[in-house]
This record gives sequence, structure tokens and C-alpha cells, in this order.
Amino acid sequence: MSSLRFNAVEEAFKKKALEVTAPSKLTSDYFGKYVFNQATMAKYLSKQTMRDLKNVTDKGATLDLSIADDVAAGMRMWAIELGATHYTHWFQPLTDGTAEKHDSFIDYAGAPGEGIVEDFSGKLLAQQEPDASSFPSGGIRSTFEARGYTAWDPSSPAFVVDDTLVIPTIFISYTGESLDLKAPLLKALHAVDKAATAVCQMFDPNVKKVVSYLGWEQEYFLVDEGLYATRPDLLLTGRTLMGHESAKNQQLEDHYFGAVPSRVAAYMKDIEFEAYKYGIPAKTRHNEVAPNQFELAPIFGECNLSVDQNLLMMSIMKKVARRHGFRLLLHEKPFAGINGSGKHNNWSLGTDTGVGLFTPGKTPEENLLFVTILTSTLMAVYKHNALLKASIMTAQNAHRLGANEAPPAIVSAFLGSQLTAILDKLENSTSEEAIVVDAKKKLALGIAHIPEVFLDNTDRNRTSPFAFTGNRFEFRAVGSSANCSSAMATLNAAVAQQLIEFKAEVDAKIAAGSTKEKAIFDVIKSYIKASKAIRFDGNGYSEEWKAEAAKRGLDCETSVPKIIEAYTSKSSIELFKSTNVLTEVELHARNEVKWETYVKKIQIEARVLGDLAINHIIPVATRYQSLLLDNVYKTKAVFSVEKAGKISAMDLSLIEEISEHVSIIKKSVEDMVVARKVANVIEHEQAKANAYHDSVLPYFDVIRYHIDKLELIVDDEMWTLPKYRELLFIR
Ligand code: ADP
Ligand code: MG
Repeated sequence: MSSLRFNAVEEAFKKKALEVTAPSKLTSDYFGKYVFNQATMAKYLSKQTMRDLKNVTDKGATLDLSIADDVAAGMRMWAIELGATHYTHWFQPLTDGTAEKHDSFIDYAGAPGEGIVEDFSGKLLAQQEPDASSFPSGGIRSTFEARGYTAWDPSSPAFVVDDTLVIPTIFISYTGESLDLKAPLLKALHAVDKAATAVCQMFDPNVKKVVSYLGWEQEYFLVDEGLYATRPDLLLTGRTLMGHESAKNQQLEDHYFGAVPSRVAAYMKDIEFEAYKYGIPAKTRHNEVAPNQFELAPIFGECNLSVDQNLLMMSIMKKVARRHGFRLLLHEKPFAGINGSGKHNNWSLGTDTGVGLFTPGKTPEENLLFVTILTSTLMAVYKHNALLKASIMTAQNAHRLGANEAPPAIVSAFLGSQLTAILDKLENSTSEEAIVVDAKKKLALGIAHIPEVFLDNTDRNRTSPFAFTGNRFEFRAVGSSANCSSAMATLNAAVAQQLIEFKAEVDAKIAAGSTKEKAIFDVIKSYIKASKAIRFDGNGYSEEWKAEAAKRGLDCETSVPKIIEAYTSKSSIELFKSTNVLTEVELHARNEVKWETYVKKIQIEARVLGDLAINHIIPVATRYQSLLLDNVYKTKAVFSVEKAGKISAMDLSLIEEISEHVSIIKKSVEDMVVARKVANVIEHEQAKANAYHDSVLPYFDVIRYHIDKLELIVDDEMWTLPKYRELLFIR
């Protein structure tokens, strides 16, 4: 092992678990202490302001400046008491992660120079104009107006981090186009609320609101920061671009749910402590399948808030990792040959009357509503399967999907045997059989008595990208580093559109003389039939499924830049327009940004790979090769020709092997550079992304293959990069 590597590994192993900072208090004593939540607001705002604000967040009333002024005054006082000196509008531009610019509360008390006061007005709370010119907009700002605004999202509470009051906001252009991920999500949540409430009212007029829920499961890797620092690929791209598999990795399945190493346990406690302070209900922690891979999952919550909490959690996790001598890897595939990381999005809808719309009910009416929502969701996922895949697809996630560890790059829905049987029964029954009005005039659909055990359904299918799990769907294809907004906005919009259609179809049948029950039944039945292609309970990893899915007409595209195209298909444009989530202009602009991001990511990786190959790998390999050559010479000098030939046979074959690998690496890097140059002059973003995918990316595997072979040959002492076996086993 080289001394550089040795020192780094030594350091890593010497590190002890840090003391945990959590106080010996009950979690509930300090949960949400740094959040301007309902309980805190009640202390700092008047009753009238609370009511006004509730009208804004719950009923969509417009926020006038006097409400904002009152809220700002209360918020300011509370934040200052917690030690805040600054405030920031926190937003989600079309890049990875979040953006913020901090401003101090200070202002002149009167004329300039007349002393300083802490000030925070409703205007400052409600709207800001950050210098938006360097955030990607896909050309929207150059064709319209350069300015971009952040605007307060009162439905996600402000919080204090260190000395800063953080205000969740949307980010829009002067002309009103969304420049972020939050604005479309809020619109989609509004759309699904409206559409689902209208459908629910067909069953129960008391329903006034439907809430979309999200529970994310965040997977992550930890590596020691000393080792991380000596891997330029991890440092610059978030993943290892080379590295031979460790002899032992996850094959013994001894990591999953295993005992958490003490250093990691200390880290987990620390991030949970932080999470609780910010009102994030972290619930579950465990080892994941791959070595050094772990998971954190909170209790689910309202979708918009849950998305914000995930973004905050990812930044907390990154920050706290440094305190423990770790680096957090949220990349979807940091290491080849072992599992990558995802972020399952557990999603459901629930009414303000307390009914979970994906929870089979106890009464026939409840079950009819359940089947209505279920089949409409299947229809939505069926119609928009290509788009849903696009909503989770990135350069990083492409490495994970379909790699025998995560869902394939084909969206299908898993229902489990019991639900499948129920839908089959419904599909094959005539309405006369199915609709039985019993003595109490209750509707029975042959599904009136879904067995209770169904609620604890443990029927699981890890290979499905969209799986029903008893009271929710789990959208498993979402990547670990993703902002959940993208997947959630798309899913909620698609379901909203379908529910609008459902109600229109039922209403039309009623107008034509059908009873309500029969109309509902007929539409459900038609949905079961029409959406059948999306249902698949088998092994999503198998080759047969790929062939079968293609036959069924599901989208099987695997090229990221081509998958992204789904956003601007006719059906997607119509979907986002009809639900008022995104305009056609916004969709085109966003795709530009996605293609541009894709190109940049592959470009950076290609550069790092080329540099490492030429600067690290080839010099080390040729140095070792010359040692071997030296040995051959010396052997010849000492022994007879015949004997020397025998002794040197192994050295000679290694020398040849090394030069073969080296020359292929060298040639491939050169060819890759040429391919990049050709791609770089393409002006059209989409064509450029396609060129990067088709003609640059393929070199990665070739170069890596030969580098990994060299890693096995070259003297361990000379190899400069920490190996997988060193990176992957935290002690
Ligand atoms: P798994 O067995 O899938 O690993 P976990 O317990 O790790 O399950 O995570 C399940 C996630 O789903 C949690 O965040 C949980 O709060 C969430 N969840 C449970 N019920 C619902 C629901 N009805 N809607 C949305 N999310 C839910
Ligand atoms: Mg899960």
C-alpha cells in the first residue's frame, strides 16, 4: 500500500465514535424547537393573524401585505430570541439542491447613519429578488425578462438554522414562469386536492379537502473523509469511476439490518437530534444492503412539507458527516458492483374527514371509493408511464435503475395477489352481479368484504418501481440525491387529471340515464381493462419482462436524454396544461436545463476519468512494468538463458498484459476526448446530450474495465487510489 494511502487508512481506523450531542431529554421536549410551527405561531401571532394565515394556506385566500406584516413581526421576534441575526429566502432552482442568500435584519433607524435597528417587514418576508441570472432557466429569462423573484410559501413553516431565519419560497420569473421545483409541486398538489375532493364528494359530501402525503426513505453511503480526499473521482463527481470489486462486499448479506458500527451509530444519533430540532419526524434507521450503506426514514407528512424536510435533511446529513470525519455520498451509484441508493417515495392521498384513500375500507362505500382512486391511479400511471420515468431520470440514477438492485427503467405497478384478485373479479363481473343492493340499501360490489388481513399485506416486490404496500404506493425509482418534487408533481398531476376525467365520465353516464352506482362501476371496469398493461407482479429484473413490457407498449427507452423527451410529448403537455402545473413554454425550457445538466455531468466525469487514467493509473502501471522488466534483465545476467527464460516467464506475461491494458486505456481516452470535442460543438442541447450519451459514455466502461484489471496486477504499494476494500468497510 502506498504511504499516502496507508496514512489515510490508518487515520480512518483510528477515529473513534464521537460523543453524541443529543441532550438527555425526551424528543418531544425539543421537537420542532427551531420551527415557526402552529404552536409557536400561537405564541407570537394574534388570533386574527393565525386565522388569516390559515385561510391562505388551507383555502387558498390571497395573502395581503397586512397579514404578511403581522406574520413577519412575530417571526422576527421569535427568530431573534433564538439568536438569529439574518434571514434568507430558501428556494429550489433547477439545479441539484437548494439556494439561499442571507441578509441581515439590520437597517437604519431613520435617515442613513441614524443608528441601527433590527427590521423585518411583510414585504421582505413575502418577496425577494435574488440575483437570478446565474440560475438555469432554459432560456426563459433571456427571452422574457431577466429578473427572477422568490415568493414566500406560507404552507411550509420557516425555521432557524444557526444565525439565520430560513423562509421556504418558490422561484419565478418576472413574467410568472416557474424557475424552480417547488412552484409546480404546489400547483400539482392543488390540482389533485381539487380533483380528488370532487370525486370524494360523490361518495361523501362532507369531504372538503384531500391531502397528498409523502414518506421518503433516504438511502446514503458514508465514507471516511481521509480516504475520500484521496479519491479525485469521489471528490469531483460523487462516485468512483474506477475500482475493482472488493473480494468481500455484499454477497454474505451481512450488512442489511446488521449491527450499526459505533462510529456510524453516533452519526445517526446526531443527525436525528438535528432532525428533531427542525421538526423532522425521523423514525427509522438501519444498515442497508451494501457495505457502508444506511437509511433514514421519517414518518410521512403532507407532501410539500415532506419535500422541504427531505432537502433540509440532506443538507443536515452532509454537514454533520463532516463533524464525524465522514463524507456523505448521496449519489445514486457511488460504487460499481454493489447496490446504489434510492429514495422510495411512499405516496398516498387522504381526506380531511380522516379517510386514507388507498386504505381499503370497512364499508362497501368506502371500498368503492378505494377502488375508484386505485384504478384511476393505475390509469394515470399507465397513460404517463414514460413521463413518470422521465420525472426520476438523471445521469446518476441511470446507473442504478435496471442494475439488478433497483427497479428497471420501465415503469409498472405492483398490486399483490389479493388486490389483483379483486380487480380480476370486478373486471369479469357483469354490473348486475356486481352491484347488489342489500337489505340496508348498501351497495355491494363483490368487494364489500376485502379481508382485514389485507391491511397487513406483506406481499412485497422489491423489483417494482411503483408498488402498492397496503395503504399507499411506493414510487421506488426515485434517486437518492433527487428533489422529490419532480416525481411528486408529476404523479399528483397525472392522478389529478385522471380523477377529473373519471368524474366527467361518470357524470356523462348519469346524464344519459345511468344510476350513479352503475356509472361508477362501469367506469372503474373500463379503467381496469384499459390500464392492464401497467400491472406487473413478476420479476422486474428479468429479461423476459423487458420483452413483455415492449410488447405491452410500455416505454422501454434507456437513454437518459431520450427519456427526458417524454416531458414534451403531446400527452404530457396536455396533462400539465389541463392541471395548470406547467405551460408548454416551461416544459421546453426545463428540458433544455435537463439536457444541459446531463451534458455537464458526463463531461465532468469524462474529464476526471481521462485525467486519472493518464496521471494516476498509466504512470503507476508503467513504473511497475519497468520494475518487472528490470527483473527480467537481472535474471538474464545471473542465470543461464534457458533457466532465466523459465524464471521470467511470469514477469514477461505480466509485462505484456500491462502494456495491452495501458495501450487500450490510452487509445480509449484519446478517442473519448475526440468524441467529446465533436459533441461540444453541437449547439442544440438535446442533440448534444444524445451525442454525449451515444458516443462519450460508452468509453467509461471500457476504460474502467482495463484500469480495474491493472489494479489487480500492479504492486499494492504503488497503487495511489484507495481501493474498494478500504473505502467500504467502516470500522
Ligand atoms: P419499508 O418497509 O418500505 O422500508 P419504512 O418503514 O422504512 O418501510 O418506510 C415507510 C415509509 O412510508 C415511512 O416514511 C412511512 O411513514 C411512510 N408511510 C406509511 N404509511 C404511509 C401513507 N399512508 N402515506 C404515505 N407514506 C406512508
Ligand atoms: Mg420502502
